[in-house]
Amino acid sequence: MSMLAFELERPRDLASAVESLGRHGSRAMLKAGGTDVIVWMHKHAVQPEVLVDLSEVPELGGISFYPHRGIKIGAMATVNQVGTHEDARVHYGALVDACLSHSDPLIRNKATVVGNVCAAVPSGDLIPAFSVYEAVMHVYGPGGERDIAFADFITGPRKNSLAPGEIVVSATLPMPSGRSAACYIKLGRRNALDLAQVGVACLAMQGSKGAEYRLAYGAVSPRPVRAAEAEDILAGSESPDEALLDRAAKAAAAAVNPITDVRAGREYRLSMVEELTRRAVSICAERLTGRESR
Ligand SMILES: Cc1cc2nc3c(=O)[nH]c(=O)nc-3n(C[C@H](O)[C@H](O)[C@H](O)COP(=O)(O)OP(=O)(O)OC[C@H]3O[C@@H](n4cnc5c(N)ncnc54)[C@H](O)[C@@H]3O)c2cc1C
Repeated sequence: MSMLAFELERPRDLASAVESLGRHGSRAMLKAGGTDVIVWMHKHAVQPEVLVDLSEVPELGGISFYPHRGIKIGAMATVNQVGTHEDARVHYGALVDACLSHSDPLIRNKATVVGNVCAAVPSGDLIPAFSVYEAVMHVYGPGGERDIAFADFITGPRKNSLAPGEIVVSATLPMPSGRSAACYIKLGRRNALDLAQVGVACLAMQGSKGAEYRLAYGAVSPRPVRAAEAEDILAGSESPDEALLDRAAKAAAAAVNPITDVRAGREYRLSMVEELTRRAVSICAERLTGRESR
């Protein structure tokens, strides 16, 4: 790897971080854990002259859980902190599964959940979980505070809807309603360090109107995808039978648009979307009708 030349700024509060980003404009990039940004710099995919390191900004730390509102994940909360958080374990199964399928224990100690989502790489493991929980991104920038619904946050590969100078402060994943169960299944190639070839998050909720399902996919389209038609097919069914699972799986495959790349071919990805949909829905339906609430 070649030497990298850049200036490092370490703001001590959020206002200084925004000021720093504003002062350097397009010459600057934010660094949270740095596990993406440093790799991209070495590959010359990005060439910032200034890195604004967020690790000393106290407003960005922490994870808090409010039983009615949900879990709020600070921008500097690591994948490991979220993956081992007790309330996340109890109420956000797909989030925890996604954290534990991310990289390896060393990288999980540096990499942040919010950085994963901001990076907007289509195979990002946290993206399907943020989709099914319908996360809200809390943003601060030169124009003050605003919230961005996760459905509007990722606009394309490595593109998000932050305006110049804006920083994600935290993200809230609202509490699923009623009894719920969720999982994330990642298909990688060989080992833990592999990026997903296909990732599927499923959230099943048992409310007053019966069972409701949410399904989201990673690595199979340029933007995050919810399989709305598959969700409709499954709605109301506590224990979907094989025929219903098949219909939902086919509808899910019709909702995605995978490419062929070095990790997998399009046809293979489509058949895996079907297979993982059947598996994820079955797991959640079983947990929902059983005792476990995850
Ligand atoms: C060996 C290795 C294995 C990996 N394995 C996986 C894996 O299994 N699954 C996976 O999904 N990823 C994997 N990654 C990629 C990377 O680790 C993750 O995407 C990670 O979660 C990114 O978080 P970070 O804090 O390191 O982000 P950074 O690299 O610090 O930032 C990523 C991007 O987000 C922006 N950003 C960060 N924080 C904010 C913020 N608060 N507001 C606005 N923009 C922000 C940065 O400017 C940058 O563009 C791997 C990387 C390596 C090096």
